[in-house]
Amino acid sequence: MEYLSLGKILKEYREHLTEHEQEELQELRKQPLAFQEQATALHRILFKEEEDFMLDSSADAKDRARGINPMSAEYIERVNAKRAAFGVKPLSKAGYSTDASSRLFSEEVVRQTKNYKELLELKRSGKKQVVYVDMDNTLVNFQSGIDQCSAEDQAQYRGELDNIPGIFSLMQPNEGAIKAYTWLSEHFDTYILSTAPWGNPSAWRDKLLWVKKYLPEAAYKRLILSHHKNLLQGDFIIDDRDKRGVSEFQGKHLHFGPDGEDFKTWKEVMSYMKAIAKS
Ligand SMILES: [Mg+2]
Repeated sequence: MEYLSLGKILKEYREHLTEHEQEELQELRKQPLAFQEQATALHRILFKEEEDFMLDSSADAKDRARGINPMSAEYIERVNAKRAAFGVKPLSKAGYSTDASSRLFSEEVVRQTKNYKELLELKRSGKKQVVYVDMDNTLVNFQSGIDQCSAEDQAQYRGELDNIPGIFSLMQPNEGAIKAYTWLSEHFDTYILSTAPWGNPSAWRDKLLWVKKYLPEAAYKRLILSHHKNLLQGDFIIDDRDKRGVSEFQGKHLHFGPDGEDFKTWKEVMSYMKAIAKS
């Protein structure tokens, strides 16, 4: 996946923009608005076609209700070519946007442009963006713990393996996880944010011991255990699931592992976070 800043869009994606749109983007580039404000303004400039239906005549509205986009074929082709170039879903046959991809794209451009109010204020005060990193199946290789448990324990705790006493102390780090966390802790205000099973008190202790063993300095007093990750304030959360409040987290979720699209490995996470850290 390619990450685009406003500058890069203006330089390399001109063919997809009208002259008026280019001027609007130039204007926007100079304004350090708040993150969400800037994303909304950018979305409105880049994806105006999503509001076409608001100006429908009654004949247009009838077309749309029958699943026909009343705009010209040439126009539809142009906007969909632009959407494809940006990795955004094409309009539906009736000319509506069908998911949040254009909004998420706009937010990502703001993040990469790094000219939004909150970030500038943070930098001015000498602070760093906040990153949370999950443990199970993100920092930690969960399966490596299971593999070391006795067959009896595995049979007894089938379907709830995370309740095996002591299992968390046996787990190994995922490939590249320790190096990545250490790097993150140097460039961001980084914390471990994990959930420990309610029915397995030893897991709460084992998670602390695991952090002390593998990240004694980088994560010193930076372990947070919670079932409500959405309550934490921050800019990024690296997590293999969207449960335990992750889907409501206010910042960006880097969906780690096989279920995620862009962040299947720590290598991919690092390449994204390095781009974010670069000033
Ligand atoms: Mg996890």
